[in-house]
Amino acid sequence: MALLQISEPGQAPAPHQRRDAVGIDLGTTNSLVATLRSGTPTVLVNEAGEGSLPSVVHYGEDDSITVGHAAQEYAVTDPMSTIRSAKRLMGKGADDLPGTWLSDHYNFDLTSGPMPAFATNAGPKTAIDVSAALLKELKAIAEKSVSGELVGAVITVPAYFDDAQRQATKDAASLAGLSVLRLINEPTAAALAYGLDANDSGTVVVYDLGGGTFDISVLKMQRGLFEVLATAGNTALGGDDFDEAIVSMLCELASFSGELSSGAQRRALQTARQVKETLSEQESVSVDWHIEAETHWSGTITREQLNNAISALVDQTLTPCRRVLRDADIEKSDIRAVVMVGGSTRVPLVRDRVSEFFEQPVLTSINPDEVVAIGAAIQADVLAGNKPDNDLLLLDVIPLSLGLETMGGLAEKIIPRNTTIPIARAQEFTTYKDSQTALALHVVQGERELVADCRSLARFELTGLPPRVAGAVRVQVLFQVDADGLLTVSALEKDSGNLASIDVKPSYGLSDGEIESMLQASMDNAAGDMQQRLLQEQKVDAQRVIEAIDSALRADGDIHLSSEERAAIDELIDNLKNSVKGDDSAAIKLAQESLEKGSSNFVERRMNASVKHLMAGQHVDAVAAQLEESEKPQDAND
Ligand code: ADP
Ligand code: MG
Repeated sequence: MALLQISEPGQAPAPHQRRDAVGIDLGTTNSLVATLRSGTPTVLVNEAGEGSLPSVVHYGEDDSITVGHAAQEYAVTDPMSTIRSAKRLMGKGADDLPGTWLSDHYNFDLTSGPMPAFATNAGPKTAIDVSAALLKELKAIAEKSVSGELVGAVITVPAYFDDAQRQATKDAASLAGLSVLRLINEPTAAALAYGLDANDSGTVVVYDLGGGTFDISVLKMQRGLFEVLATAGNTALGGDDFDEAIVSMLCELASFSGELSSGAQRRALQTARQVKETLSEQESVSVDWHIEAETHWSGTITREQLNNAISALVDQTLTPCRRVLRDADIEKSDIRAVVMVGGSTRVPLVRDRVSEFFEQPVLTSINPDEVVAIGAAIQADVLAGNKPDNDLLLLDVIPLSLGLETMGGLAEKIIPRNTTIPIARAQEFTTYKDSQTALALHVVQGERELVADCRSLARFELTGLPPRVAGAVRVQVLFQVDADGLLTVSALEKDSGNLASIDVKPSYGLSDGEIESMLQASMDNAAGDMQQRLLQEQKVDAQRVIEAIDSALRADGDIHLSSEERAAIDELIDNLKNSVKGDDSAAIKLAQESLEKGSSNFVERRMNASVKHLMAGQHVDAVAAQLEESEKPQDAND
């Protein structure tokens, strides 16, 4: 293994020591690798001169692995072992499969390991395996093109990718023998490619319509600082849907109403794609469509016909656009630039509608297929240390709030969604019961008020707490999300120095669709959730009163109370216990007030007794000081 060189802080490596780094756009449909050549970002090409690698991997019976265009050749003859769109399965579990595009098109092996695997000629292959095969190919292209040693890559991921999906991407890179300098969000890379960060300030929108996914992001630029304000999208919308709409139109034009065989279906989609791509450049195209066997259709399709076929799909992208503006709390007039990303933004109708929606011209001067890889290459160059003066910071956001479960099954948000990362936030928690020596920490993700409606990320315990009365032990819980979006949670009890922590690497993640529906549910249920939260908080409060009075009764109830008085308080406690079981918040409040009132004499007598105890033989000033001391929260009940 080569030794790593370390340069002095702030000094660029000498020219011959240039450290080559690449940017990789690992796309659902197409993947690219780019690097900086004499300061100019360049997409690297394979021996056939192709820059864009279809994200397709074929597994042969002889264990051969074919990647890219060559793999696409097998799509018709060996569809089950020709894997495309594997990115959709990154970081996912078997539960996520049913009803997805992938489950309709492939056979899966759910028994070979914790991750669902494509059942191929060469055995089970996970999405990580498939991505690793693509990354290996991109790495080989890179190694042939760069002069020095390849120090690593910046790989882009959708802004929506959660922990598991980001981790899966990193795992794929290490399988491919590629060191990851950083994962960055695709829209952030696109904005970088346009140099929108340099001496610029303002808000930028990135509209990314690829083969099967749509992402929209709002970024905020301040000199040297780059922040993603909000993201939204649709994981089941892209150029593939345009292709299907065009096939329907073709069937109608050809008066073909039968079922297409799977081979004929793939041929029809290929024809549709050609029609679509040609109509991005021309006003009309002549088509000769071999439907099946002896059936052909030929004719001319105009751009207007195409526009009619896809118009509703294009409009569907505008809903997330509206939402992202609302989330980021900006007006259209605040937007400084709209960046177009993804092959499908070559469609003129898409450009027109988006420009109309945002009320300004859209940026298309950098090839929309390459813009993400180019931005990643620029960032890779900085991270490889070739630009020591460049203190460019990349900030992204977390898509869903992260928090902890607190008493009553409530979710306490520690880091709200759309907070920029990297981020560290601490919050203090305390014990609920007397002599509690352990704290169970449950990390959750989501917007809802109740834990039951959020997603569980991890559980761990902090043990060895000093046994004190409820509320006296302070535990600091720290949430840290690193620049790659991975979460670490730690809990520290200061007095004992006891520390517990966990890296959250959930066994499977959330799809963008799930994130969206979680957000939607939180909006739909906001009022009801708030009521639930208030009710739960009231219950917790009532429980606390019950605990406190119970423990006081146990300690000296028989000294201060007659048996009638004791019975009356017991009844009030039972009353409150019963109402806490129900959901009537007014009843709980009433029962709690009655108990507090009914036990006030008891509480007063106890206080008097302890004051008398303190005063015995002491000067009044000393007593006052002692009382004051005893009111400090830490020692109040010690
Ligand atoms: P992804 O980010 O999902 O990997 P890309 O950004 O590479 O996808 O976009 C792929 C999509 O772009 C495909 O649906 C493809 O048909 C479409 N596309 C590529 N070129 C054109 C074009 N000239 N006109 C219209 N659509 C195009
Ligand atoms: Mg893309």
